[in-house]
Amino acid sequence: MSNPSILILPGDGIGPEVMAEVRKIISWYGDNRDLAFDVSEDLVGGAAYDAHGTPLHDDTMAKAQEVDAVLLGAVGGPKYDNLDFSVKPERGLLRLRKEMDLFANLRPAQCFDALADFSSLKKDVVAGLDIMIVRELTSGIYFGEPRGIFEEGNERVGINTQRYTESEIERVARSAFELARRRGNKVCSMEKANVMESGILWREVVQKVHDEEYADVELSHMYADAGAMQLCRWPKQFDVIVTDNLFGDLLSDAAAMLTGSLGMLPSASLGAPMANGRPKALYEPVHGSAPDIAGEGKANPIACVLSFAMALRYSFDQGAEADRLEQAVEKVLADGVRTADLLGEEGVTPVSTSEMGDAIIAALNASL
Ligand code: NAD
Repeated sequence: MSNPSILILPGDGIGPEVMAEVRKIISWYGDNRDLAFDVSEDLVGGAAYDAHGTPLHDDTMAKAQEVDAVLLGAVGGPKYDNLDFSVKPERGLLRLRKEMDLFANLRPAQCFDALADFSSLKKDVVAGLDIMIVRELTSGIYFGEPRGIFEEGNERVGINTQRYTESEIERVARSAFELARRRGNKVCSMEKANVMESGILWREVVQKVHDEEYADVELSHMYADAGAMQLCRWPKQFDVIVTDNLFGDLLSDAAAMLTGSLGMLPSASLGAPMANGRPKALYEPVHGSAPDIAGEGKANPIACVLSFAMALRYSFDQGAEADRLEQAVEKVLADGVRTADLLGEEGVTPVSTSEMGDAIIAALNASL
């Protein structure tokens, strides 16, 4: 059988710097865990524009459709700010998400004990936190018609439409239940069924998918505003939260910041299962290209490394190896190794991007 395939798209700014550390880790798995990947690399964003005059070449798009997982660094930078909208670096990323039909956006909020002091919440509320928000990404109020600003009488009216079909709700609900089975086996679905018809349909459909296909998973429902309160009050009550595009946008940003630094946050976007049963998948750190520190070896590679851990778990069915990598990161942080963005304690000298990568490799070696 051939090795699982990964397309690496480092992108711009700190993207190539953090991705270099992930490449070391991918090689480590081939050398030490009999887990070899066929890795190819290509351009995206400003780097692709510089080479081809487009932020995503058609050949790159075609490769992304074929591989088992895409790993992306970051795109954008001041050099490209004045480009026409159609060729801006971000368009490359949007094209990937759209053409791969990545409808489920996974944003974990995971708090490593060593960084619990970075949270704005009390340490005991966030220490050990590990929740996953699944946000519907390709429908809902950001896409529904009619939309626009219209004249009505002697004033203007702004209109956006929240619209969900049963099949759109079903597929994201399935993604959430599948994830829950690989985690804590609990899903909380959030909507506003008390005031929105789309929320009533959302609740009914999630319940039906549960009863017919995932009765083994514990399901609860919560109004999204109450959910926001509960996330701040006691986030550890949740395992997987599934919600729509708008509520997910807000709840995932809020949950992410429970855990501290932007340099620590991974994400995944998943689509429908391919012929081999794996979902189409794009893994990327939440942060951007950080032009203010690009080229200085200061970037924290952990968000990108944890994005690869998500790929191990959700694309390659290697949950134990994903645990190993996350525990290696945890150990490095517990040992006090810090990139500049994680400084808080007195007297700590920051390590460089590659030193952080090396420390994670050393912790992986120690795990054998
Ligand atoms: P940013 O995430 O790039 O940076 C925000 C701040 O966080 C900066 O001070 C940066 O130095 C710091 N930071 C981010 N990641 C870090 C890391 N791994 N380690 C240490 N510090 C880190 O957001 P921005 O400054 O608003 O945007 C910069 C560029 O990135 C823009 O062109 C923007 O369009 C683009 N962007 C791309 C993506 C993406 O590729 N998915 C996401 C957001 C922004």
